[in-house]
Amino acid sequence: MILLNPGPVTLSQSVRNALNGDDLCHREPEFAAMTKRICQKLEAVYLTTQTEYKSVLLTTSGSGAVEAMLSTFSPSDGKTLVLCNGVYGERMVTMLQRQSKPVEALMNEWCSPLCPLKLEERLALGDITHVAVVHHETTTGRLNELSAIAAICLRYGAKLMIDAVSSFGAEWIDFDSWQPLAVAATANKCLHSIPGVAFVIARELALQQQKSAATTLYLDLQLYYREQRQGWSPFTQAVQGFMALEAALDEFHQLGGWQARRESYQRRGEMISSHLATHNIQPLLNLTESSCVLRTYVLSDTIEYHILHDELKKAGFTIYAGQGQLGGKVFRVAVMGAISDFEIQHLLMLFDKVMGC
Ligand SMILES: *Cc1c(COP(=O)(O)O)cnc(C)c1O
Repeated sequence: MILLNPGPVTLSQSVRNALNGDDLCHREPEFAAMTKRICQKLEAVYLTTQTEYKSVLLTTSGSGAVEAMLSTFSPSDGKTLVLCNGVYGERMVTMLQRQSKPVEALMNEWCSPLCPLKLEERLALGDITHVAVVHHETTTGRLNELSAIAAICLRYGAKLMIDAVSSFGAEWIDFDSWQPLAVAATANKCLHSIPGVAFVIARELALQQQKSAATTLYLDLQLYYREQRQGWSPFTQAVQGFMALEAALDEFHQLGGWQARRESYQRRGEMISSHLATHNIQPLLNLTESSCVLRTYVLSDTIEYHILHDELKKAGFTIYAGQGQLGGKVFRVAVMGAISDFEIQHLLMLFDKVMGC
């Protein structure tokens, strides 16, 4: 099956092979050494060696990493503003509500960009200490433009937390100039590993702080950080998931890092968009506003989502439905994973068959 949903992704042979490694206890030195190597390889995706940022590995899905970031860093004695233009921003609001932390949502239309002016007006009131934002809002495929947002946060002294779950490894994350407090992401999207391992990259000083804001023990990043510096973990980790992630990161770096990944996604996306245009299927967003990872297409009157989905699935491809208010109106095609151009060509032929050429 070729997965064109936004994670999990089609695995490469080397990641599959890594899953077949020897059994290993997470309290043995081989595991600690592997953990330290993975942290270095993750940090090397965007950072140079002399960095104030450190990664923390968790056994959870992407939402678990986002929730750990919010649990650990979002304060009870401050206020977090969440910028929303889709499902994942709104999910962060719910997480903070569940944690009983002061939170406010800055709502935008799902199909609109985030508005830096509105952010600035809100921060000027003075009570916001933290800002949380989604980088690639997978609901629509929009890549939120974070340079202006980050600059405003810096100017007003608000600490920035980023959900980069569906952009980490394929879009530029500018740690040096955005200066985020923390960035949450996962193994099973643009890094092409299996689901089950996710991570947060955060300022080391914040990870070392005496006082933790964490509302749960299991999602307290400071607890993990203290042990992971030596390679250990407070709880059992997904050992095979770690093995797979290390193989995926080795492949990622060998193939040319995030820039090369971005290029290959962009090429796949172009092949699909230009072909769908011949069937009069248009993208929901202006393509310059879309991430390289996923594009959303508006369904035409002549084809229903479930028919398109089922016909493609019969032939070995899984596409993805619209969520919430976009359900039934659009379909999404993600281009992550170990997919060849040949397989994309096959997909285009299937579109012809289903849509009638
Ligand atoms: C996939 C995704 C998540 C996490 O989803 P999980 O199902 O928990 O892995 C979070 N944020 C964004 C933007 C995503 O695309």
